[in-house]
Amino acid sequence: MRIYLDYAAGAPLTPETKRVMRDFGADFSVGNPSSVHAEGRRSQGLLDGAVATIAAIFGVAPTEVVLTSGATESNNSAISGVLRRWRLDHHQKPHVVLPAVEHSSWRQALGNENAVVTVVPVNESGVVSVEAVMSSLGPNTALVGCSYVQNEIGVIQPVAEIGSRLRRIANRKEGQYPVFHVDAAQAFPYVNTHIDHLKADLVTFSGHKSGALAGAGLLLVKSDVAWEPMLRGGGQQWGKRAGTENLLGALTLAAALEYSDAHRAALTAHAAGLQRRLEEAIARRLPQVKILGQNVPRAPHISGLWLPGVADESVVHRLDLAGLAISSGSACSSGAQRSSSTLVAMGFSPREAYGGLRVSFGRFTTRAEIDVFVAALTKIVVSLNLSGR
Ligand code: PMP
Repeated sequence: MRIYLDYAAGAPLTPETKRVMRDFGADFSVGNPSSVHAEGRRSQGLLDGAVATIAAIFGVAPTEVVLTSGATESNNSAISGVLRRWRLDHHQKPHVVLPAVEHSSWRQALGNENAVVTVVPVNESGVVSVEAVMSSLGPNTALVGCSYVQNEIGVIQPVAEIGSRLRRIANRKEGQYPVFHVDAAQAFPYVNTHIDHLKADLVTFSGHKSGALAGAGLLLVKSDVAWEPMLRGGGQQWGKRAGTENLLGALTLAAALEYSDAHRAALTAHAAGLQRRLEEAIARRLPQVKILGQNVPRAPHISGLWLPGVADESVVHRLDLAGLAISSGSACSSGAQRSSSTLVAMGFSPREAYGGLRVSFGRFTTRAEIDVFVAALTKIVVSLNLSGR
C-alpha cells in the first residue's frame, strides 16, 4: 500500500470533486458556454454558478475571478499583464520587487520581461521582512510579488502587512502603482485568503493543491488594477482570459474550495496535529535532521526537512521504493536534479541545499501514515550514516 505525502505537489481528488466528475463528466462534449443554444446556455449557467461560489469565498465580484489553467498561468498572466500596462502608461522600464524564495513560475516569467528586478533577501527561516520590501521600492516600481505560503518549507510571508503598507503609499489616482500580487497557490484553506485581509490587487490559486482537477486555477484581478489580459481572442471571461473555459475543471474547483472553506477549522486542526506529530517524532528520533522555519509562522500542511550530507535525490528514491511519496523540494523542478534555491537563499551552501525534503499532507492523511514515514526515514538516515551539519 502506498503512502502519499506530497499534497503540496498535488492533493488527491476529494469525494466532492469526484461527485462533480460523475454527475457532469459524461455530458461535457457538448455545450460551449459561449454558444447561444440551449446546450451552451446550460454550460454558461453552470460556469456562472461555479464562479459565483468562488467569488463569494474570496470576497471578490464574479467579474474579478479569472479562471486559468493553474497557478503557473496565473503568475505569468499577473506579471505580463501588469508590466504591459505599465509600459503603455509610462514608456519606461518597469521595476519589480520579489523575495528570494518565489516559485519558479514567478521568477522565470520575469525572465521574459525587460524589467529591472530587485530580489529581496530572506532570513534563515525563509521569511522576507516587510521593511526590506518597502525600502526596495522606487519611482518606477510597477509590481511587488510575494508568495503567501512558501512552497518548499511552508513559511507564511507577511503579505497582509505588505499589502496594507503598499495601499498606504500607492497613489491610486495616478496609475495605481505599485500593483501587489500574492501567489496563494499553497495557502488555501489554511490561512486567511479573503481579499480584504490580503489587501492584494491580484491573487493566484491552484486547483490541484486543493483536491480539484489539475488544469484549473485562478487569478483574482481587482477591478481597479492596472493590468492587461495575457490571452486574447473570443472575449470569454469579460475579455480577461480568452479561450473556451475548462468547465469541468471550474466545477471541481468550486466544489473543492466550497468544501474546504466550510471545513477550514477542522482541516487546519487535522493538518496541524499531523505536523506536530511528525516534527516531534523527527526531533526525538533524528536530532541531526533540521526542521526548516521551525520558529516562525508556518502553514500546517507542509514540513520542510533538511538532511545533512545528502547531495542527491537518493532519499526520495529510497522512500519511494519503501512505498512513500514525498518531494525533494518543489515538484515543478524535480526531475531536473537541482539544489534548492530556497535553501540557498536561507543560507545553505549550494551543496547542502540538495538535502531538502518536503513532506506535505492533508485531509486524508492518517497519524499511522506519519508514523510509517518517520520509521522509514529513520531507517534511511541510519543506513546512510548521516550526522549533523
Ligand atoms: N506557485 C506556487 C507557490 C506553487 O507551489 C506552485 C506549484 N508547485 C505553482 C505556483 C505552480 O502551480 P501549478 O502547478 O498550478 O501551475
